[in-house]
Amino acid sequence: MIPRSFDYLRPSTLQEAVQMLDRYEESKVLAGGQSLIALMKLRLASPKYIVDITRIPGLSYVREEDGKILIGALTTHDMVENSPLIRQKCPILSEAAGRIGDQQIRNRGTIAGTLCHADPSADVPTAFLALDGEVVALGKDGERLIKAADFFQDFFTTALNPNEVVREVRVPVLPPKTGTAYIKHARREGDFAIVAVAAIITLDSNGVCKSASISLGSVGSTPLRAVEVEKALVGKKLTDEVIVSASELADRGISPPSDIHGSAEYRAEMAKVFTKRAIRLALSRIGG
Ligand SMILES: Cc1cc2nc3c(=O)[nH]c(=O)nc-3n(C[C@H](O)[C@H](O)[C@H](O)COP(=O)(O)OP(=O)(O)OC[C@H]3O[C@@H](n4cnc5c(N)ncnc54)[C@H](O)[C@@H]3O)c2cc1C
Repeated sequence: MIPRSFDYLRPSTLQEAVQMLDRYEESKVLAGGQSLIALMKLRLASPKYIVDITRIPGLSYVREEDGKILIGALTTHDMVENSPLIRQKCPILSEAAGRIGDQQIRNRGTIAGTLCHADPSADVPTAFLALDGEVVALGKDGERLIKAADFFQDFFTTALNPNEVVREVRVPVLPPKTGTAYIKHARREGDFAIVAVAAIITLDSNGVCKSASISLGSVGSTPLRAVEVEKALVGKKLTDEVIVSASELADRGISPPSDIHGSAEYRAEMAKVFTKRAIRLALSRIGG
């Protein structure tokens, strides 16, 4: 289908973008366009104004500062997947970005775009939640930090105000003795997740689980933390018995949808299976 007609605006700074979003009702930011344009063609979104931020300089970077990795809003999925810094210090984000669609999508789609789109089946949001990441949002009153736990509010809904733009995404540099895994259950490579799991496990010097962060995608209206699973891991030696019994709790607090790809019951069962696999894989990746 052809989108409804709209006015195209091209700010040269983010401040100008914010002014435009503030001035024009029913305006939308355009980044990689990999979700927004599809929605407009289906007429599921019909903004009157498109604010194209892609020509604003200085929004595509990856750098480390004060124990965090700072990622510019327009950094593409391909750059996140292949950044040596992210691969070394926060590998789960690279792994999740590398599972998005196909290479063409990863060349154009952006990290802020997938977070702001807030599809509960998307890959990067699930990893971002497990990482306790944060976004820097710029509005007309200045900047504010929004934590991952507060950012995703409902299906395709975030805590951003209509006149705010994400300028930067921040994730932690992971501590030593940490292993991570992002795995997704999809019908074919490149499809959206039926169920996805992000697992981050840190051990202490005695090999006991010091912290566990597990999040699930495609089992609710937002990515969800598997709090009961985390509690069942922390403070224990992660024997396979402990992993298996903790993973059985992965269906607590989720509300999976039923669709042509799987029933709610199937997704709940897969949440347990893939949680178990993700924890095992994360554990196997912990170096000395
Ligand atoms: C064929 C196909 C397959 C795909 N497969 C997958 C997949 O397997 N897994 C997956 O996770 N995703 C998948 N995607 C979606 C892909 O990840 C998109 O790139 C991503 O969802 C949106 O990023 P974008 O930069 O293209 O954003 P856009 O489409 O430009 O924007 C998306 C939304 O975010 C808003 N937005 C964008 N940037 C900002 C910003 N800086 N501040 C405020 N708001 C902003 C826009 O206004 C819009 O509402 C697929 C897409 C396609 C077309």
